Amino acid sequence: MILDIQKNVPLSVYTTYKIGGSARFFCDAQNEQEIIEAFAFARRRGLPYFILGGGSNILVSDKGFDGLVIRVRNSGYKMEGEIIEAGVGMDLQNFVDIAIASGLQGIEWASGIPGTLGGAVRGNAGAFGGEMKDIVISIRFMDRKGNIRVRNNEECKFGYRTSVFKQMPGLVIISATIQLKRGDRKKLLKFSGDTIALRASRHPLEFGSCGSVFKAAELKDINPRHFEKYPRFKNLIKNDPFPVIPMACFLDEADLKNYRIGGAMVSDKHPNFFVNYDNASANDVVTLISLAKQRILHHFKIVAEEEVQYVGF
Ligand SMILES: Cc1cc2nc3c(=O)[nH]c(=O)nc-3n(C[C@H](O)[C@H](O)[C@H](O)COP(=O)(O)OP(=O)(O)OC[C@H]3O[C@@H](n4cnc5c(N)ncnc54)[C@H](O)[C@@H]3O)c2cc1C
Repeated sequence: MILDIQKNVPLSVYTTYKIGGSARFFCDAQNEQEIIEAFAFARRRGLPYFILGGGSNILVSDKGFDGLVIRVRNSGYKMEGEIIEAGVGMDLQNFVDIAIASGLQGIEWASGIPGTLGGAVRGNAGAFGGEMKDIVISIRFMDRKGNIRVRNNEECKFGYRTSVFKQMPGLVIISATIQLKRGDRKKLLKFSGDTIALRASRHPLEFGSCGSVFKAAELKDINPRHFEKYPRFKNLIKNDPFPVIPMACFLDEADLKNYRIGGAMVSDKHPNFFVNYDNASANDVVTLISLAKQRILHHFKIVAEEEVQYVGF
């Protein structure tokens, strides 16, 4: 089958931010063969390529992406006992639902996280104490030369919201083999529903966003002096999975809640969400991020590190 490669495709519709210009070339890769074909197309033409999952952790520039965007859509899976091997174009929530329906636990913490399994592996997505690194057995991927390879968990070099696939751009994750364990289906279902409801109560889901803009600040990087000035910080330490203070606390303390630039705004409900309040441009968001970084550095001497990935800047 010939891969359908389209031209000048607006990327805003493929991101949860609903922001950004067009891709010069765009395709949906429904299976491994199409991923290989898309990669070959980019290589033949000397084009840069960008791998798109669910678009829930990216900010696309207003001028778009001058290359090929490959949206990974392979979502077949097979289950053997407590092990599931799945195409990473599968929505993460779909993976959670499949696991729970089969009475398998280990991924239920991811309930309500948008995006695909591939995006979650690359960024070692995590929530409520769970992380992808705890359940990945191995990852099948394409390297930058187009060879299909497999890395085991250790070789994936997972860390806090990172992995080798993030550290070495250009690798294309194709499928993930995940180890789960037997659990109580009813309890898992309830946990999943409660988690989704909790997220809805904490996150400004009525607006476009990329989730948390910044990674949480590691406790070891925080000057103890700040605990004297802001004693409440001590009560905000979380294990995620090591001691951190959520960046939302610093953004709040730096008086950034509701701060707006153009159509972008720091959410009042969750200050680490910089929302698309009113037809924001990517430039609005970037300017807001830059201002927030300056304030955090100025007030707390912390270098805020973006979790969001910039595309086409
Ligand atoms: C409302 C909201 C809540 C969120 N809550 C959380 C949370 O609790 N925890 C958390 O960790 N994250 C959270 N996020 C962020 C985001 O959902 C996750 O990072 C998610 O795993 C990203 O997956 P994606 O498929 O959308 O990736 P995309 O946004 O499409 O891509 C992100 C990066 O991954 C790369 N990528 C995607 N697929 C592949 C692949 N197959 N091979 C190689 N590279 C790939 C892209 O090139 C890009 O660099 C939240 C986001 C939103 C909008």
